[in-house]
Amino acid sequence: MENRSALEIWNAALGELQIQVSKSNYRTWLEKTVGLDFQNNRFIVSVPNTFIAEYLERNQRSLIEKTLIHLTASPDIQISFQVNGRYKDPSNGHSASPAILESLVTPDSEQLNPRYDFDSFIVGNSNRLAHAAAQSVAMNPGKIYNPLYIYGGVGLGKTHLLHAIGQIAQSRHVPVICISAEQFTNEFVSAVRRKRVEDFQLKYRQAGMLLIDDIHFLSGKKQTEESFFHTFNSLHNASRQIVITSDRPPKAIPQLDKRLRSRFEWGLVADIQPPDAETRLSILKAKARCRGINITDDVLEYIAGRGLQNIRELEGLLNRVTAFAKLLNAPPNLDLAKQAVADIGAEKTEAPIGPKLVIAVVAGSFNMKPEDLTSGRRDKETSLARRLAMYLLRQETGFSLSQIGALLGNREPSSVTNACKKFSAELASNKSLKRKLAEIKKSIKPQ
Ligand code: ADP
Ligand code: MG
Repeated sequence: MENRSALEIWNAALGELQIQVSKSNYRTWLEKTVGLDFQNNRFIVSVPNTFIAEYLERNQRSLIEKTLIHLTASPDIQISFQVNGRYKDPSNGHSASPAILESLVTPDSEQLNPRYDFDSFIVGNSNRLAHAAAQSVAMNPGKIYNPLYIYGGVGLGKTHLLHAIGQIAQSRHVPVICISAEQFTNEFVSAVRRKRVEDFQLKYRQAGMLLIDDIHFLSGKKQTEESFFHTFNSLHNASRQIVITSDRPPKAIPQLDKRLRSRFEWGLVADIQPPDAETRLSILKAKARCRGINITDDVLEYIAGRGLQNIRELEGLLNRVTAFAKLLNAPPNLDLAKQAVADIGAEKTEAPIGPKLVIAVVAGSFNMKPEDLTSGRRDKETSLARRLAMYLLRQETGFSLSQIGALLGNREPSSVTNACKKFSAELASNKSLKRKLAEIKKSIKPQ
């Protein structure tokens, strides 16, 4: 059996062993091992040091052999451990350094966001094709569309789908490399500088699946493009799945090497469009459910109906509404959502912030109701909260002293002036009050 299979068989074995031994045991003894060679029932595994070799030899030899026998359906297997053994790439005879091999064993898995899986991806008309294509390449890598090229605007779920594919492949022990074109470029540049281009190329050419995000970043970077071109060809020839995302179709990437462009069009080019209102609502419902946010459908409908087409922004709006609710200690109802949203509109046009919102947020941060601030209550705590509200309204909105007085229970303009002065003095000597003010400001004006 050829060397390349040793790598893959061992990765599969590691998957099984991970279930059979304890987590710390796996981390300490098995994680950094690599399958090197498998011939005549002899399986050679590279380990980082003699200590690990001896431990595995003494304690886990039979478990490992059993696992390998089971996986390969061989009648008998003898395992041997080699310290920092070198892996020979059968395609070109070069050997990779142990560092490169390490990166193959733990193949950038930490780069996959576990939240971005198929279960949490909501399908609608705008992304149906891309989603179906992503699922089929995840289930049948290298067999159906190669490459799969997914494009669409910012925040529409391209990275989410890419990671979902990676997660399925990884659970099947395919060594996945998932990387943004930007990181790929940086790695390439650094490999050139350190004269390690061969290692770099070897690493990518041994990927079982290559997921590359935001490919338009390569545009105009001739050398990196060239290197990617060769990586692409070598993986494609070996029927390794390649998935590419971009904010535009291949034709629209300026200065992209013609050869690359035509290769990107070899497989399937699938676009993602902005979601319609119905899909936006489903997405919001799913996000709220998954985070355990108790929020009624009318509020979600209201948020979905705002016409935001970027799903990241849509999520941001949901977060904002729930953050307000928490702060105010009130249920996230329609009124509150409207205040939160109206305020975002206000920010864009630089119009003054809604005064009701300021009062509600200040009251909430003191565990009070807005009516407490507009009432005649004069206890210490309420008076302080009221002063803070006046000060903020003065600072952050274009309201006049008499308008502010009217908003806070028909108070005289002169008492607003006095309150603001007093509050300034308090602020200068009270650090925790300063912090409180900063927090309130942040929730009124995120970013
Ligand atoms: P892109 O890479 O296209 O800019 P992302 O994949 O980063 O966008 O998506 C932005 C955010 O929106 C992420 O939090 C992602 O989980 C979420 N998202 C995008 N599309 C969907 C969808 N169809 N269902 C659920 N969440 C989605
Ligand atoms: Mg992205």
